Amino acid sequence: MSSTNRQFVLASRPTGLPEESTFKMIETPIPASKDGEFLARAMYLSVDPYMRGRISQARSYAQPVEVGGVMVGGGVARVVESKNSNFAVGDIVDVYMGWQEYIVSNGKGVRKLDPSIAPVSTALGVLGITGLTAYFGLLDICHPKAGETVVVSGAAGAVGSIVGQIAKIKGCHSVGIAGDDDKIAWILKDCSYDAAFNYKTEGNYSAKLKQLCPKGIDVYFDNVGGALTDAVLMQLNTFARVSICGQISQYNNAAPEMGPRLLGMLIVARAKMQGFLVSDYAPRFGEALVEMAGWLREGKLKYREDIIDGFENMPKAFIGLFHGDNTGKRLVRIPE
Ligand code: NDP
Repeated sequence: MSSTNRQFVLASRPTGLPEESTFKMIETPIPASKDGEFLARAMYLSVDPYMRGRISQARSYAQPVEVGGVMVGGGVARVVESKNSNFAVGDIVDVYMGWQEYIVSNGKGVRKLDPSIAPVSTALGVLGITGLTAYFGLLDICHPKAGETVVVSGAAGAVGSIVGQIAKIKGCHSVGIAGDDDKIAWILKDCSYDAAFNYKTEGNYSAKLKQLCPKGIDVYFDNVGGALTDAVLMQLNTFARVSICGQISQYNNAAPEMGPRLLGMLIVARAKMQGFLVSDYAPRFGEALVEMAGWLREGKLKYREDIIDGFENMPKAFIGLFHGDNTGKRLVRIPE
C-alpha cells in the first residue's frame, strides 16, 4: 500500500468550460482510522455533470466546493483496514468519497456491494445514482403509459441510455437525441430506442421530431435544455409530462441563455413540467434497485461503461463530459 493519498482539489473557480488547471493534484498522508471507522481505497471514481455546479458559486441545491477543497463525488472502494465490525477488510463499498484515492468512513451512508449481483462499477451507474435518476425521473415524474411517445435528450449518456430502456419496458415508443452517429447506432441497437437523431448534424429539429414522433410527444425527459428543448416543447401533446433532469447545454454559460419563451405551450397542451433531484427519492432507492437488478438479470436492461484509467485523469475525464466524449456511464478506474 502506498503511503500517500492523492487528491484533486479545486484550484480556482472556472468561467465557462473548466480546464485541467481548474483542478490541482496534491499528495497528503493516508488518513488514519479510529475505533468505529474503516479505511478504503478507491477502485472506481465517478465523474458527473452535476460537479460543474459544485465548482460554481451560483445558487444551487448544495454547497459548492471551496477553492482548495477536495472535489466531491461518488466512488466504489475496497476496505483495506477496519475498526468497524460492520465492514471487513476486502469488502467493496459504494461511498461518497470525492476525488481521492483513500477515504476513512464510519460507515454512515455507505452501501456494501455484492459482486455476485453485478460488477461493482455498476453501483456508480445503472445500479447507482444515474440508473436511479432514469428510474424516478421517468416513472415518478412522467408516469409513462403504454403506447405513448417518450422523447429523451442526452440519450446516449449514463442517464439517457437507461431512460429509453425503461420507456420500452413500459411499452412506449422511445425517441432518443444524441450528438454522435456511433452513439445513435448504439442506442438504437442496444438501448431499445425506436428512433433517434444526431442533433449535431440535423439542421431542423422540429421537422425531425415531427417525422420521428408522428403521434406527437407525450413525455419528454430532458437532460440537456437549450434549443433541443425549445423544439420538443412545441410538439407536446395534450396532458404531456416533462421531466427536467439536467440542462447540461447551459452549465458552462456565464449568463443565462435566453431563448424563445415557450411556457405558453404548457397552457396549450395542459402539460406538466417538473424538475427533480434524485436524492429526494433516497427512501425509495432500495425498491428501485431491486426492480432494476431484476431487469438487468432478465436482459431487459443493458448498460455501457466508458472507463478511463488512472487517478491523474480525473479532470480530463470530467471535462470530456461537456464535449460528448463519453458513451454510457463515464468512470475513472484506479489501478490496484
Ligand atoms: P452523460 O453521461 O449524459 O454525459 C453528458 C452528455 O451530455 C455528453 O456525453 C454529451 O452527449 C451531452 N452534452 C454535453 N454538452 C452538451 C450540449 N451543449 N448540448 C447537448 N448535449 C450535451 O451525463 P449523465 O447521464 O450523468 O447526466 C445527464 C444529465 O442528467 C445531466 O444534465 C446531469 O446534470 C443530469 N442529472 C440530474 C440528476 C438529478 O437528480 N436531477 C442526477 C444525475 C444527473 P452528446 O454527445 O449527446 O452531446
